[in-house]
Amino acid sequence: MEIKATTQIYGIFGHPVSHSLSPVMHNSAFSTLGLDCVYVAFDIAPEEMGKAAQSVRTLGIKGINITIPHKESIIPHLDGIAPDAELTGAVNTVKNDAGNLSGYNTDVGGFLKAVEEDLGIKPEGASVLLIGAGGAARAVMSAFCMNGAERICIANRTNDKALKLASEFGKQFKKIKIEPVALDDRSAIKARLGEADILVNSTSAAMEGKTAIDLPLESLKESASVYDLVYKPRETPLVKEARRLGHRASGGLGMLLYQGALSFEIWTGMQAPVEVMRKAIE
Ligand code: NAP
Repeated sequence: MEIKATTQIYGIFGHPVSHSLSPVMHNSAFSTLGLDCVYVAFDIAPEEMGKAAQSVRTLGIKGINITIPHKESIIPHLDGIAPDAELTGAVNTVKNDAGNLSGYNTDVGGFLKAVEEDLGIKPEGASVLLIGAGGAARAVMSAFCMNGAERICIANRTNDKALKLASEFGKQFKKIKIEPVALDDRSAIKARLGEADILVNSTSAAMEGKTAIDLPLESLKESASVYDLVYKPRETPLVKEARRLGHRASGGLGMLLYQGALSFEIWTGMQAPVEVMRKAIE
């Protein structure tokens, strides 16, 4: 890739950000399509978010991905946000149109595409058990709620956060049965596992060698699938155990891929070279 005076800049704001797979994924896409663009990682301290957002305008950066811990704090610095980002309360993609910054949440669409491709799951009519109530859980909630899930149970280590998330989405989606369930209530969790079409882990437990959440997976119904948003390691303990028990199960690499592909399409208006991007992050 040749960097020239005309090269357009894209990137990611995070803190830390040195582990991010987004630069390799997007640069492979740019170079495959012969675009005069480059994608770089910027480590932005939380207190610098306002200045960083302004620098996108000042430097004419064309597009930015936003990752932990800035997905919410970027919002007041934008000129507008898309409905999925508004519902989720988080932005992971910013497009700069001549200084006008628009925010999107491609985690929502990326999740939907990944569960359909990897597990054959469509959200309409689905019964869901969601573990976790952080930022990623909000994207999963938006994906299922905006697309007609029938029932969503939310369990989280800090129960209050599950209560809050269930109540917030419950008020907006009255036709969907949305209820919290205590993660340490073993019999309630077993019952919910027995009813769910899909179990989704959106917690960072089990990331890079941390201990996984202990779930009685033998209570899952035979046809149930399991999606773990964590993609490091590629096969998480949850995915491994679910597969051992005969369930379709997948880690979160597909969601990472498709949120990136959707960001690429928002920025460039071109179809993302998904297979090239997949190869870059595998
Ligand atoms: P977050 O906002 O910090 O939320 C973390 C969640 O994990 C909370 O629900 C937290 O529970 C729970 N948790 C953390 N450690 C735990 C433990 N030891 N036991 C039980 N629960 C624990 O983070 P996030 O943005 O939601 O991200 C969560 C995970 O999803 C990360 O691993 C991230 O890499 C992954 N993710 C993947 C993709 C993808 O494209 N595949 C996209 C987004 C996120 P408490 O509320 O009790 O603290």
